[in-house]
Amino acid sequence: MTSTSDRQTAGRGKLYDSVLDTVGDTPCIRINTLGPKHVQLYVKAEYFNPASSVKDRLAVSIIEEAERSGKLKPGQTVVEATSGNTGIGLAMVCAAKGYPLVVTMVETFSVERRKLMRFLGAKVVLTPKGAKGTGMYLKAKELAEKNGWFFAQQFETTANAKIHENTTGREIVADFKGQRLDYFVTGYGTGGTVTGVARVLRKERPETRIVLTEPANAQLLGSGKPQERAGDGSPSVSHPAFEPHPIQGWTPDFIPLVLQESIDKKYYDQLLPVPGPAGIEWSRKLAQKEGIFTGISGGASFAIAMQVAEKAEPGSVILCMLPDTGERYLSSPLFEGVPEVMSDDEIALMKSTPGYQMG
Ligand code: PMP
Repeated sequence: MTSTSDRQTAGRGKLYDSVLDTVGDTPCIRINTLGPKHVQLYVKAEYFNPASSVKDRLAVSIIEEAERSGKLKPGQTVVEATSGNTGIGLAMVCAAKGYPLVVTMVETFSVERRKLMRFLGAKVVLTPKGAKGTGMYLKAKELAEKNGWFFAQQFETTANAKIHENTTGREIVADFKGQRLDYFVTGYGTGGTVTGVARVLRKERPETRIVLTEPANAQLLGSGKPQERAGDGSPSVSHPAFEPHPIQGWTPDFIPLVLQESIDKKYYDQLLPVPGPAGIEWSRKLAQKEGIFTGISGGASFAIAMQVAEKAEPGSVILCMLPDTGERYLSSPLFEGVPEVMSDDEIALMKSTPGYQMG
């Protein structure tokens, strides 16, 4: 086998008309160090998308479906409630297509997410943490109604699972063609990923077991309690099992309508809770042992993929979703304990040769 540095690349063999055409077709990458030897573990690395998360797919889908249906007019303002990645994806799409964007976001989400959206030209309106996810949602709705803006509604729109059915699910089937795929592991935010991918896997790979995970201290699905909804399917109250958790982008304080299809159609075979700290721990391990740089939700999904792997029969193949890049978490608990100043080891290294020493 030739080494990577000797490999001659061929280019993509085409030119792209827009950044939007680069969304999707993310690679499934084998894990070489962390996994148990009796199985093969792969990750689908969504940070290869142009705005570095799985939500770029949804953003293109929402805007283009709304253009097609006439709900979104040229130059009309788009508004959305988002924990970050959807906002960043929408900001990228709206910039490329010339729509103004207003995002509502709970004040606790990481600062770099706000800055990224503003850098991409969006306006970000913060909402109080006490009002939880429902607060940022209702604020977006209020703004949309008052101003006649297009409300993206990622938690209810059919454009969400549809894009994962047309892209994410199909990509997995294509990439594992002729190979085993015993388990697919993912968490949920809106539920778009699991619902869309499951629609495809249930049809094309019925043997693949779908493992869904949620935060251990916010087991909305695990509680078995249904979500109370308004007429349009949006939540009318916070779910009683919700507690604030550190896995940004996962499990809002309600069960989204998009996820409801996965519950009703029994799209997942197993539901496993994961503690937030495990997400942080495995994100760090993926970075340091595999060179794979993902956020807390990726680490949390991978923690569950490892749990599945330990128990899986020899030869099993497991695929785990990694929704975004770790770079999105510089000011979050993921990077806590990563110092700015030199450690004792680093100072010793500095002093080990005579030149260029810091005072
Ligand atoms: N992880 C992160 C970091 C996210 O931003 C999201 C989307 N909110 C997810 C996971 C879950 O994806 P989905 O909305 O498709 O369920």
